Amino acid sequence: MRIFDPHIHMTSRTTDDYEAMAAAGVRAVVEPAFWLGQPRTSVGSFIDYFDALVGWEPFRAQGFGVRHHCAIALNPKEANDPRCREVLDLIDRYLAKDRVVALGEVGYDSMTPPEDEAFARQLELAERHELPVLVHTPHRDKHAGTLRSLDVVRESGLPPGQVVLDHLNELTVAPVLESGSWAGFSIYPDTKMDERRMVAILREYGTERILVNSAADWGRSDPLKTRRTAEAMLAAGFDDSDVDRVLWQNPVEFYGQSGRLDLGEALEPAAASFQGSSVLRGEPGE
Ligand SMILES: [Zn+2]
Repeated sequence: MRIFDPHIHMTSRTTDDYEAMAAAGVRAVVEPAFWLGQPRTSVGSFIDYFDALVGWEPFRAQGFGVRHHCAIALNPKEANDPRCREVLDLIDRYLAKDRVVALGEVGYDSMTPPEDEAFARQLELAERHELPVLVHTPHRDKHAGTLRSLDVVRESGLPPGQVVLDHLNELTVAPVLESGSWAGFSIYPDTKMDERRMVAILREYGTERILVNSAADWGRSDPLKTRRTAEAMLAAGFDDSDVDRVLWQNPVEFYGQSGRLDLGEALEPAAASFQGSSVLRGEPGE
């Protein structure tokens, strides 16, 4: 089984995680730029963070045979901090870099005017660089935030297929798929969305334009949730090609629009079979 995690924050994970991910079949990841928890007080903090995403983290991943790419953006939460606004002037030059396969995470946190401005301005940059866009939908007031994000995408003139709206659930998936955009789902250990609900969504909506990720970060999260979702799909009667479609081909197709995916030998069909099943023997949903 080959897995591409299209949204995971490896900066906040250990080498044990890389080891377990590689053993579980994770061969490629995209790490979007996000809010680090501790508010940043200057633009320099962003420069160092972005440099780590294009330099240090791919190097760290390479040691475990995982292909690492990233998405760059000013995240919605810090778009509200006047000390961080200047970051918008830096995004352009990062979007030109080889390992940057998308713009993200952009979107809404609290749906404020500064968030509106940062969102629209960054969509223009994505259009100029012809890059896919990863849109974070807010955890509070998700339904309204998702519909409003779809409006902003529509107004931007970007082709809808170049955009994924992420952190979706049963209530937000339909309008996103109907718009022509991609639907992203973050699978968490105990909140928001789990693999059982994910399988039900796949049954109802099919496997096209669906991305499944672990979104693992510093919060309670599990970098093997992609693998666990694959197992749940198989247990529910989906076959190997459905699993490969959702957990490999879909992310390759979506981020492949950048023209920058570097998958190397990871592109070859699975030669190495999964040998780390012991790492998956936890309780479901732990
Ligand atoms: Zn994220």
